[in-house]
Amino acid sequence: MTTNLAIETSANERLATLTGTTQDYLSDALQRFDHDKIAISFSGAEDIILVDLMHQIGLKCAVFSLDTARLHPETYAYFEAVRDHYGIAIEVVMPEASAVESLVREKGLFSFYKEGHAECCAVRKIAPLRRKLDRLDAWITGQRRDQSVTRGNVPIEQVDLAFSNDQRELVKFNLLADWTSNDVWQYIRSNQVPFNPLHNQGFVSIGCQPCTRPVAPHEHERAGRWWWEESTIKECGLHAQNLEPVSTIQQT
Ligand code: SF4
Repeated sequence: MTTNLAIETSANERLATLTGTTQDYLSDALQRFDHDKIAISFSGAEDIILVDLMHQIGLKCAVFSLDTARLHPETYAYFEAVRDHYGIAIEVVMPEASAVESLVREKGLFSFYKEGHAECCAVRKIAPLRRKLDRLDAWITGQRRDQSVTRGNVPIEQVDLAFSNDQRELVKFNLLADWTSNDVWQYIRSNQVPFNPLHNQGFVSIGCQPCTRPVAPHEHERAGRWWWEESTIKECGLHAQNLEPVSTIQQT
């Protein structure tokens, strides 16, 4: 009993420290950039913590989500729940219709199972993300180091080499890099934060419906994404820099 209490106290202290530190990082990031030049990328369990912390500290920036047109109905319902809960707009960024039409005409609707996910992700995720990021100077993600082998070196802040251009250097904040999956879920439960109902059906990392499946208790969370491909290449291109040597402004 004493041991359980000590473990619980230690977990609570860790979460309180992480929460305070992340609030400070977030506050600093939002004050360094004009509010229309920095945005939170929102999709999964982690990102809701960024939205919740921003709500707590009373600062604002845009929150956007990539809608590939292949998401689960539950994910769309979740976006609405978050919108209602926080009274915020979630900007939906969609792929170019002509690019999707061309891909589907040439390759069909499920080419990723045979040819890998890169081409479909390029059309449905990367091109729209680039369009969005071209209007920003910084973006904030919910990447965590414990999520996958490709994310083990993710820094709190870095130059986004994949999406910078000749006109400007894009800064990318990974403010939850130090958080573990346990931290995330302890925060969500403690603060009664809304979460995607798919998590109650065994889904852990949630992306597009055809490319996401539930994972067994012994499996790593990213095992449910593109399960037919090697774990070392499981990045959709949003964070392709993770597959390259890290360029860091501030490593914490
Ligand atoms: S995750 Fe799957 S469906 Fe979604 S954009 Fe990538 S390949 Fe296409």
